[in-house]
Amino acid sequence: MWQIDIDVDKCTGDEECVNACPASVLEMQDGHAVAAEPDECLGCETCVEVCPEGAITVTEV
Ligand code: SF4
Repeated sequence: MWQIDIDVDKCTGDEECVNACPASVLEMQDGHAVAAEPDECLGCETCVEVCPEGAITVTEV
């Protein structure tokens, strides 16, 4: 499975990752993205690629 780490200090809340994730893993909470459904993650790293702030890392665990 995959661990999604989102640096909330870097996240500007533009929702790019939320909109790009093919598995609906991510959602907005309190103005920043969170991995609400991590068990659904495919490890595709699309969220990592679309984040303009480099706020997301995805690691196989
Ligand atoms: S790695 Fe892919 S499936 Fe997992 S949260 Fe990011 S965009 Fe969604």
